[in-house]
Amino acid sequence: MERNTSQKQIILATIREMYHPSAEEVYDVLHKTNSTIGRATVFRNVNSLANSGQLIRISIPNAADRFECMTKNHSHFRCDGCGKIIDIDFVPSIPYPETNEGAIYGYSLLFHGLCNACQEKKKSER
Ligand SMILES: [Zn+2]
Ligand SMILES: [Zn+2]
Repeated sequence: MERNTSQKQIILATIREMYHPSAEEVYDVLHKTNSTIGRATVFRNVNSLANSGQLIRISIPNAADRFECMTKNHSHFRCDGCGKIIDIDFVPSIPYPETNEGAIYGYSLLFHGLCNACQEKKKSER
């Protein structure tokens, strides 16, 4: 239990220093400084932190989930060029639809486009 708690703290601190990492990227960073930490342990802890609401999970179609620590409410934009997930200071207000099929509590939304670096790259390729 004690061991798990401190591992979770280390994982949270690592994710806080990163920008929307996948569990794999968290493992890569942790493994460099702490070679005894296992891949399965990192994946299990990251998922458990997300399930308990201590981490935000960003689900990306056809790609690994990304994670981030709690911050103020914001949206995400995925660059179609390099795949980077970028924070945008925008919170849409969409009314939940009425349905007899159940109760809707929320939605997830991912914008996409090209980041500045990829736009520059595209211009110079022309
Ligand atoms: Zn890009
Ligand atoms: Zn974010």
